[in-house]
Parts: sequence; structure tokens; C-alpha cells
Amino acid sequence: MPELPEVETFVRGLTPAVGRSIVSADVRDAKLAVSARELQGARILAVRRRGKYIGVEFADGRALVIHLRMSGRLRIGCREPETKYARLVLRLGDGVDVYFVDPRRLGTASVCASGFDVPVGIEPLDAGFTSSALAELAATSRAPIKQFLLDQRKVAGIGNIYAAESLWRAKIDPRRKANGLARDEVRRLHRAIVGVLREAVDGLGTTLGSSVSDYHPASAEMGSFQNELAVYGCEGEPCARCGETIERIIQAGRSTCFCPACQR
Ligand SMILES: [Zn+2]
Repeated sequence: MPELPEVETFVRGLTPAVGRSIVSADVRDAKLAVSARELQGARILAVRRRGKYIGVEFADGRALVIHLRMSGRLRIGCREPETKYARLVLRLGDGVDVYFVDPRRLGTASVCASGFDVPVGIEPLDAGFTSSALAELAATSRAPIKQFLLDQRKVAGIGNIYAAESLWRAKIDPRRKANGLARDEVRRLHRAIVGVLREAVDGLGTTLGSSVSDYHPASAEMGSFQNELAVYGCEGEPCARCGETIERIIQAGRSTCFCPACQR
């Protein structure tokens, strides 16, 4: 599933769409809650990200809000991508088209009259996300810290990959209670989250596998953060820090990889 760095990569890839108008829209999947009529003629003022949501903001105050879920991706270009999974096509004129490709069809798209306003928490790459802000949020939760990090209403955009990587980097056991972390542990976790996400955004996200449902950035370049993963998908391999074998556990139905020796 695309997380903050992957969604951010798609949003940046859509920069050429800004300032253009939707000449026509081709809604190819009736499961999507949008109609060609409400999209046609809308002028695109900005494309922004909040958490894992993408907001295509229109000049009339409305916004097309997209969530990619498991397998969604956005492509921009003048040629139909070689896939049968395009669910929505926005034609912007001069041969610029935006494709919402989604093999598993779990992604969502809808036009919100009131603009791009989604129910998510603090942005971890914004200036407001300080160590004290994280400490304040963590103090309100008795959930294991891994689950706390996945809660989009608390901190926006972190999913299974970057939660596991941040906790490894901060040397914190994913089973610890969020409100049980000491102040210096929260400080380490804060630094780890920001560092991991920044590096992943710079690397255009994480590309896993090569099936149709896997993440591929909007540009021709591939995300490269998979080369930096320390624990995610590394079950059975030695920890890069201490040599202990990386373990995998299930927390609230999601798998978590961690080092049982140096994450405490
Ligand atoms: Zn270790």
C-alpha cells in the first residue's frame, strides 16, 4: 500500500497538471463515486497531499479527493499506460492525460464540494510535528506504539513499512505501549520518523516486487528506498545493527518485523 513517501511522489508527479482544465473525463469504473459531468471543465489550482490522501483542488473551491488504498497509482502522460486497470482518465488537453490505475479497485475518488479536507492527524514532515507534539499524542494512547503509528487520526501517512523502519531506527520494541515511552525514547522516535520519511521521499518511495499491484512512481524512475529497509520484509535475516535474527510478529492483524535484541 502506498504510504506518505509514495503518495508524495505521485503528487509531485502531477505538477504538470496544475493550471490546466479538465477538458473531459472518462470514468471507466462505476464503483468510483465520480461522474464525468462534475469533473469536466474544472480548472486545477493545486495538487496536494494530506496523509495518504491526494487532493486535486479546483478553482471553484471543490476538490477531487483520491485515496490509492492497496494498489492505486497515478500516471500522467500523453499515452495510455500499458494496463487494462485504468479506472479514471482526466484529459487535460495538449495530450496531457492523468490516469488513475488500480488493479485491485479498492482505491476511492470523489468530488468534495467543500474542498480538500480529510480526517487525518498531524503531518510528520510539517514544522508542527515536533518531539513534544509526538509526546503529547503518544501520552493519550495505551495502544502498542506500532499500532499508534498506523493510526491516521494521530500521525498522518505512516503505514506498515515506515512504522517498522522508524521503530527499528529508534531502537524501540513495537509492542511497547505508546504512553509508556520515556521522553528520550519519544525524541529518538521523532527523529527516526522524520529521517526515514525524508529519505524515502528523496528516494521516490519503496518499490516492492513487480506485480501489477505493486507501487511504481509516476515518473519513469523507480522508487529506491527498498534498498534501505532494515527490518521490513527482512524476517530471518541478521539485524544490520547487532546481528540478531529479525523476527516477525502479528499485531492487530498486521505483520511487524523487528529486532528482538536491540529494540527494547
Ligand atoms: Zn538488532
